Amino acid sequence: MRIQIDILRNTIKVLLIVLLTSSFVYCKESTIPYDPGLVVILKADDLGEMTPNWERFMHIIFKDSICGSIGIIADRMKSDSTVDEIRRISGYKRDNKFPVIEFWNHGYNHIKNKNGTEFDGSTIEYQANHLQMTQEFMNDKLRIQCHTFGAPYNRTDINTLKALYFSPEICVWFCLKNLEKEEKKGWKNPDDHPASDNNKILLDVDYYFYKIFPVDKMMNNYSKDRVKPYIVIQVHPLMWKDKNFDDFETLIKFYKSRKTTFMTPFQYYQYLNDIFEGDTRI
Ligand SMILES: [Zn+2]
Repeated sequence: MRIQIDILRNTIKVLLIVLLTSSFVYCKESTIPYDPGLVVILKADDLGEMTPNWERFMHIIFKDSICGSIGIIADRMKSDSTVDEIRRISGYKRDNKFPVIEFWNHGYNHIKNKNGTEFDGSTIEYQANHLQMTQEFMNDKLRIQCHTFGAPYNRTDINTLKALYFSPEICVWFCLKNLEKEEKKGWKNPDDHPASDNNKILLDVDYYFYKIFPVDKMMNNYSKDRVKPYIVIQVHPLMWKDKNFDDFETLIKFYKSRKTTFMTPFQYYQYLNDIFEGDTRI
């Protein structure tokens, strides 16, 4: 009997130690600030219909265990097969609950004429309407709640800020500092405000090459880039040749071997605000 009581006591002791240690480890982990190193955000523009180039680009993102983001032009995505495919792909998530590919609002028709572009030189009503039509398309057809916007040609005007009030679920704006210079009240660039406090964020585009993809230049820039909180790389895979795809893979390998973390734009927004809920899929 005595022996049995001793065994029982020891078992309780061990259990207590295990419980205490595990809760200690849990608390300890949750209080250590997570350091992602340089955050790399891929911004691929102009998805309309699926093409072999888009398939190839997405395949690399999946295969290389990273994540990225792709801007959709709603009026160019007409076929059911593409809609079904994007809906399917948007459902894939990494273990961190964020999508492998975040699809975002790249305007409704990407128009450019003598009066300007879709979000530069048009009225607030027109811009709000175009933003909303793409939000609704993504909601209704793709079953995606979209949180990110980037204007065609990286061109906006003062009306864009006002038009965005009508789509309050958008909290990340890809915004090229050089070109989009208007006052953006309530939106902050994490470069200037490292401790973002629930403000909507402006992500400046660091690399915005159209057809070419100068991988050497980008790798050489790493020593400068690594001190930034994040970089955005804008690409147009629709225009790529084999060489560009190879260079893209070289660049991914390069970043992966250094202290960097690939994030999607909405993931980065959540990271800045200490939220780790993941994607809000409809
Ligand atoms: Zn575009």
